[in-house]
Amino acid sequence: MRFVYKNGLEKALTFSYDDGQAYDRKLVEIFNKYGMKGTFHLNSGTLDGVTEIPGEEFVKSEEVATLYEGHEVACHGVNHLNMPALSVSVTVSELSDDRLDLENLTSKLVQGFSYPFGSYSPEVISAAKAVGIKYARTVNATHGFFPPSDFMQWHPTCHHADNVMEYGKQFLDVPGYVELPLMYVWGHSFEFGRSKDWTVIEEFCEMMSGKDNIWYATNMELCDYLTAIRNLEYSADGSMMHNTSALSIWFLSDEGKLTEIKPGEIKSV
Ligand SMILES: [Zn+2]
Repeated sequence: MRFVYKNGLEKALTFSYDDGQAYDRKLVEIFNKYGMKGTFHLNSGTLDGVTEIPGEEFVKSEEVATLYEGHEVACHGVNHLNMPALSVSVTVSELSDDRLDLENLTSKLVQGFSYPFGSYSPEVISAAKAVGIKYARTVNATHGFFPPSDFMQWHPTCHHADNVMEYGKQFLDVPGYVELPLMYVWGHSFEFGRSKDWTVIEEFCEMMSGKDNIWYATNMELCDYLTAIRNLEYSADGSMMHNTSALSIWFLSDEGKLTEIKPGEIKSV
């Protein structure tokens, strides 16, 4: 047997965009046009402000809930600081205050994170876990499609400027031995905004859109689903599985039969 994604979908695609600049408005529009789901990592301390580039601004606090509706809002630290250089207490407040502010703005739980500058250490990981962060994205490209082994060091497939079209084609034709294939693209919307060239993301989203075997999901939806699979409890002989999570899990038998294991349910393999 092999596990599959929600409702039996074979693969998953997710995006992660950092820093919350106003160019996110156009990026969200593109995602919505093509049915993509993404996660937006925001610095609550820079919302409503301007950048060092004249005419460039960050998203407004008052628009966070509506702009990112249908996507995930996640942490990126209050002030975009290089966390391994901070004391643990400052790292803790950078994260917990970011959660508090973003949760107040969205009225949702905010438990995702991406490391500012992609920079982290064992101390930063412990601080993030201690304040309720469930996953943290790095900037280390895997150029592959395996789900992460450690959600606190979630390495993306690639940056959008790193041959994303080529990796997208490989993903559409991913070999069968990859269980739960996942493509994860990250970047900043200002990279498109400053160059005034949105071609690559438009073309990529268009190429990946409307596939009936892809789950378009936020980072947190994937983290929750994959964690639920990893938390399954098995009988000693491996013939029964107990879904202890609050989510349904799907698997395919060797004969290709799709089975749903509902929350709390015990199923035979
Ligand atoms: Zn950043």
